[in-house]
Amino acid sequence: MSLTFLDRAIGLLKVADPPRWSSPSIVALGLLAAFLEGATLYLFIPLVQSLSAGSAAGDQIGHQFNDLLAPIPSDRRVAVLVAAVITAVVLKNAVSFLNTYVTRLTGGHVAHRLRLRVFEQTISSCIDYRVQNKKTDIVNTLTTETWKVSSGLILVYRLVICVCTCAVFLVLLLSISIPLTAVALLFLGISAAMIHLATRRAAGAGKSVVVENKRFGLRMWESINALPLIRSFSREDYEFTRFEALSENVHWRILKMDMLWAVPGPLSEIFATALIGLLILTGSMLGTGFAVLAAFLAVLWRMQGPVREIMSSKVALDTLGASVADVAEYLEATKAPHIKSGTKRLPAFETAIEFREVSFRYAPHEPLALDRVSFTIPMGRNTAIVGRSGAGKSTLMTLLYRFEDPTSGEILVDGTPLPELDIRDWRKRLSLMSQEVRLFNETVESNIAYGDLDAAPEVIRKAAAVAGADDFIRAMPDGYATEIGDHGMRLSGGQRQRIALARTILRDPDILLLDEATNALDSESESAIQDALDIYARGRTVVVIAHRLATVADADQVIVLEAGRVVESGPPATLLRSEGQFARLHGLQFGKMSMRG
Ligand code: ADP
Repeated sequence: MSLTFLDRAIGLLKVADPPRWSSPSIVALGLLAAFLEGATLYLFIPLVQSLSAGSAAGDQIGHQFNDLLAPIPSDRRVAVLVAAVITAVVLKNAVSFLNTYVTRLTGGHVAHRLRLRVFEQTISSCIDYRVQNKKTDIVNTLTTETWKVSSGLILVYRLVICVCTCAVFLVLLLSISIPLTAVALLFLGISAAMIHLATRRAAGAGKSVVVENKRFGLRMWESINALPLIRSFSREDYEFTRFEALSENVHWRILKMDMLWAVPGPLSEIFATALIGLLILTGSMLGTGFAVLAAFLAVLWRMQGPVREIMSSKVALDTLGASVADVAEYLEATKAPHIKSGTKRLPAFETAIEFREVSFRYAPHEPLALDRVSFTIPMGRNTAIVGRSGAGKSTLMTLLYRFEDPTSGEILVDGTPLPELDIRDWRKRLSLMSQEVRLFNETVESNIAYGDLDAAPEVIRKAAAVAGADDFIRAMPDGYATEIGDHGMRLSGGQRQRIALARTILRDPDILLLDEATNALDSESESAIQDALDIYARGRTVVVIAHRLATVADADQVIVLEAGRVVESGPPATLLRSEGQFARLHGLQFGKMSMRG
């Protein structure tokens, strides 16, 4: 909890990983600006001296300037000093402007790179697909927290620059008057401690903002996704109240954080004003000259800015710590590939996929989802997998896609263990059609072209025709260029399925996986798609997850799963005759009972 500033800054630099040139350039420019500003203030001493000639006589610093300015004729001294001050101010501001540019450039660059890393690691084909469960967290990390890391980086730069500026000013103060500096330092030390005390809860406040933001994001996302459900249950008021409570929570947490950020500013200004009063009193007691006191106060007044910034940046950095930790944790958790790709590329799928004694459990303490499953999926044949809900059918698909590896046993493709294959090359050979169709909010054409990004328009149209989609697409307002709306909301279920089939046809997979693809459709659409599928699937390797046994009559073999085990396998007619589990399920279904548990 009680991380020091240095720990935080180092952690932040590690996560932000700014370009190598940026940190030295920003600090160097900041220091240059500080020196130029110090020079401006220093030049004010002889300027004031020249105006009130002789008042500082006797001061050591006054003598130094007298020696320095000796070569300049006394009637021109004021003009020369004014010109020097203006030049220094112009230079200082030019350097500061350049520094702002470099700092913002670096901040933007860091946020951009972090967003790319988070996104790349999220969509990586080797990531644990169950990360999907935390979608809104990822969105929050991607959109909000990455920005905060770059703001934190800029804060660290500003802090370093301000500390250096203060050091320059401190040397200046010491050279003007050691006793006054001692008084000022003592006072500043006490006020810094008080500000620290007032803002020590900043880190906790920052953390609760991150947590609340995630809760809020989740509610927002869920509500928008569940609009039809909310309306059909007339739960608008209930949802509104839930949303309102979370939104209000975020509002108060952010307010608390903002107020903590705002504490150091006014406090340090009050302390600074009190300090000036104290210094004037001390100065008059010590008999300090007017020019020296004025210069001392001017430097001190200018020093207020960086000191205030140091105090607020420290608080801000404490609150941003939670964002940095969030991004760092996400990048760390998704860094190592969940599934490691092999290197082999099969020229073609030739003989069979073999599941050999495959067992799988989703988590160490959970029961086996698959228990020593062995069977073969021959090339060019139709294999149906049947079983009650929860029997392990989808898990087989998960393993086939290599979203997960078996806990024990192995899957061989033409004799090669799946882990030895290049994972992206392998997945390109598979295509899954399920009742849940995912379409992008783009044109019909680009949705189909997702199957092959280089496909020519004629090829896309041909695929659509095979899928039985060409006619209705042509009848749409802009034909293939029609925007299909969010998740294809402007299309019927059957139309969405046909577009998905066209996309699959364009992809031209070696192995077609069907997961109750036509279950959610009316019988007319279903038989149309079934016909298109039958034609397309002829002669291909097909694996069907079938809930309705009528659709498995044409299968070359049926694998019957029960509680993660293969209890039967063989051609459907043979299984029916043997009066085992398949025959029982068949009897149940055709006795009009659903076999879904
Ligand atoms: P089916 O597709 O036949 O309905 P599944 O393969 O989905 O069956 O599920 C097999 C078993 O694995 C079930 O007991 C289910 O609860 C469990 N299971 C499925 N998916 C997960 C998951 N993501 N995490 C943990 N357990 C899971």
